[in-house]
Amino acid sequence: MAIGSAAEAVADQWTGALTKTGKQVHILKFAGTVPAEEVTRRLEVHAQGPLNGWRLAMAGPVATVLSAAAAVRQVGGLHCELTLHATDLGTVRVYCPHCRSTTLTKSSPGAVIGCSGCGRELRTRPHLSRRLAGYLGSDIHAEELA
Ligand SMILES: [Zn+2]
Repeated sequence: MAIGSAAEAVADQWTGALTKTGKQVHILKFAGTVPAEEVTRRLEVHAQGPLNGWRLAMAGPVATVLSAAAAVRQVGGLHCELTLHATDLGTVRVYCPHCRSTTLTKSSPGAVIGCSGCGRELRTRPHLSRRLAGYLGSDIHAEELA
């Protein structure tokens, strides 16, 4: 699966390598950012049944790939069946445990962002949740309250 134009070269390389081994390969290409629900809908239509037993390789922007992978796991895909490749590390998802919002932002672990849900200042923690497809944030003032 290629999400965005930068991912097409990666998908073409995977396809070439797998085709040489005799594996059956299907490529789904998305022109740009795509909601995770659309990815799983297209996969289910393409598979015409459960995704168990499939090997799925996805390339694209990190936030989109992680979100799509989380959606695939929710419909039965196993982590060991997924190969993920990020073509762009710029925008990530940061989860706020205080209001349960997810903020799409250009951030990296250690950086402080503003939560899009409650406005708190969140430190982006290095914990990357596969289920939430993003980093955990924590209120930078939380330790002051103790
Ligand atoms: Zn929040």
